[in-house]
Amino acid sequence: MDYRQLKLDKSKGKTAVDYEHVPEQRGEFKALLQPGDFLFRLPKNLDLAWAEPFEANVGDKGKFERIAVQFDPEHPLTVVGAPPALRAANPGVIGETVRVRVANAERNRARKGDPAAYVSDMYYLLFEGLGLDGKKPDENMEWIMALNAFAGKEFVAALTWSSFCSERNTRYIDDGQGGTTEDPDGTKGCGTRYYQSQLPRGEDGLFAERFTCGGKKQVDGGTVDCGASLRCFPNLERFRKASFAEGW
Ligand SMILES: [Zn+2]
Repeated sequence: MDYRQLKLDKSKGKTAVDYEHVPEQRGEFKALLQPGDFLFRLPKNLDLAWAEPFEANVGDKGKFERIAVQFDPEHPLTVVGAPPALRAANPGVIGETVRVRVANAERNRARKGDPAAYVSDMYYLLFEGLGLDGKKPDENMEWIMALNAFAGKEFVAALTWSSFCSERNTRYIDDGQGGTTEDPDGTKGCGTRYYQSQLPRGEDGLFAERFTCGGKKQVDGGTVDCGASLRCFPNLERFRKASFAEGW
């Protein structure tokens, strides 16, 4: 209706917002931090930062229950240091938080041809990044207690991005309006995985958080470009001690 015909009761219409204390919107879009080495500080308290246990396949060893710590704005993994070039490129980077998981699910780290060697990211975080020099955890609760003991401590890691074009899920495509939408035809992705070194950069030299999949899909009579719109996800790799950041 015409706003001039609204019957407004001025005695009941007072704004209730405390303009001095407006929190960030939940679910608000926040650009991912560009990849690179950072000095990170763990949350002051890790007790509440744990995600639901999940089932993980560990190569030929079978299925295991595994756990992960989930860093988010309420349980922040905070950037407290970055190499000079990174700070120059992004002066606001110190104090940024990253949304990332670190799990104790083992993956094979052996070189091609060598016998399998299953190690988790949480192992590298604890033993390489935080310098744990004690009993090696034998089961999930011991991993949790070991990491909880390092609340507030610092380590260096590489923030990397990766992406995956799932063959199981309906692909997302460009909606022609600067966003993306689920493919109305229900076409699925092509199965291509993208690691950091394979991710495209935009014209500004920055890695693009969303990009168009360059994979191929088999169809009747040959192959076609996949063309799905993919999102990048942040990961932590190459954990090192905080002393690595001396001189940054
Ligand atoms: Zn694809």
